[in-house]
Amino acid sequence: MTDRRAAMGMFAALAYALMAATATAAEVAFLGATVIDGTGRTPIANAQVVVSGERIVTVGPRPRQPPPSVRAIDVTGKWIIPGMIDAHVHFFQSGGLYARPDIIDLRARRPYAEETADVRARIGETLARYLASGITAVVDVGGPMWNFAVREQARRTPTAPRIAVAGPLLATFAPPQLTGDDPPIVRIRTADEARAEVRRQLALGPDLIKIWFVFPGPDIEPEMGWVRAAIKEAHAGGARVVAHATQRRVARAVVTAGIDILAHGIDDGPIDAGLLALIKAKGVIYTTTLGVHGGYARVFGRVVKLNAIERRLGDPRAIASFADLARVSRRPTPPPFDPVAGSNLGRVRAHGVVVAAGSDAGNIGTLHGPALHRELALMVEGGGLTPLEALIAATRGGAAVMGRSTELGTLEPGKLADMVILDGDPLADIRNTRRIFRVVKGGVILDPSEIISAVSVP
Ligand SMILES: [Zn+2]
Repeated sequence: MTDRRAAMGMFAALAYALMAATATAAEVAFLGATVIDGTGRTPIANAQVVVSGERIVTVGPRPRQPPPSVRAIDVTGKWIIPGMIDAHVHFFQSGGLYARPDIIDLRARRPYAEETADVRARIGETLARYLASGITAVVDVGGPMWNFAVREQARRTPTAPRIAVAGPLLATFAPPQLTGDDPPIVRIRTADEARAEVRRQLALGPDLIKIWFVFPGPDIEPEMGWVRAAIKEAHAGGARVVAHATQRRVARAVVTAGIDILAHGIDDGPIDAGLLALIKAKGVIYTTTLGVHGGYARVFGRVVKLNAIERRLGDPRAIASFADLARVSRRPTPPPFDPVAGSNLGRVRAHGVVVAAGSDAGNIGTLHGPALHRELALMVEGGGLTPLEALIAATRGGAAVMGRSTELGTLEPGKLADMVILDGDPLADIRNTRRIFRVVKGGVILDPSEIISAVSVP
């Protein structure tokens, strides 16, 4: 893209955002839609949502006359849901074929430093893909220290979602292929190392500290020593802790140790009643990432079939990279699909555990933005959740992961006016979350196609 085109694109985005911002300076009433407020209560047909500035004033049935000072927007025949929240992504990964040289090493074709520099340079575009996908907030659960700069960039960008971030993963293993000046994963061996790394991140105000407990040996106690130290240090510094712990015995250990959020479902067998009770009693949030294995499997199996929202809003460079696999002689093995993750989601749900929806976008085949919609469908079809339960996980559940339940996640008076206006009923078919008419972030009304055309690279 030329500089001139880039400048014109940015100008269009700004002009649009300013226009929308001006329009919402006074009170605005969205009239006539069916509102699914994310609290779990019955949808309100023919509703009125009044927004003043960036906040919601009222949500209820449409009165005969809207208040006279209010600008009325007729959205009859539409559905309004809270802005969706993807509770598990990684900005440092592109979603394309070169995102994970530790899983498929193509550094001879594309050096990893080149890949990550490109990802970093195009982060504004990635952020826009989220917002255009109806995702008004995103949680990056671990990456390089530049994640904190991304959070700052998002705060001053009208075409970006709200963002919560963790810094580098404190890990039981650091893939050598991912090392560099600002590594996303740091191997920790002692309690002192754990405390030092947590303090390094606390200096930048992380929303979360991430523990990556992978490849557990028969005795996990030696690693648990530093894990406990990291949790204590994080909590003392005001940050909550999210853990990758996908085996039952590891999950049991880290939940007992005091983590706040499980970053993935558990997939090594059915979760027993004891572990379920423990997760529930500790108030730990259970994040689903049912779709991420399928992304790898489709790309590696060369059976990528994009759905409509992926074609429309997915990163075209990441998508184009999938075809490069045909030129690679070595056949990589897809990571194993976890057949029990879906049934465990049903168990967790039945036990009343708080569930959040995460796509793990950025991994190979899992596209920033559209991926959450695939996840939602899997939660319903693979996890047995109702569309409403899946929707609540992707709104209220995500707000809980962000630690921002008082201002995000549901449509209630006083909360930030983050909403998606849909052309189809998501409770009739969860795939209707993809039929996005408008995205509203902090009261600013945005057209998804405008968001994308303003920032995307041809
Ligand atoms: Zn992840």
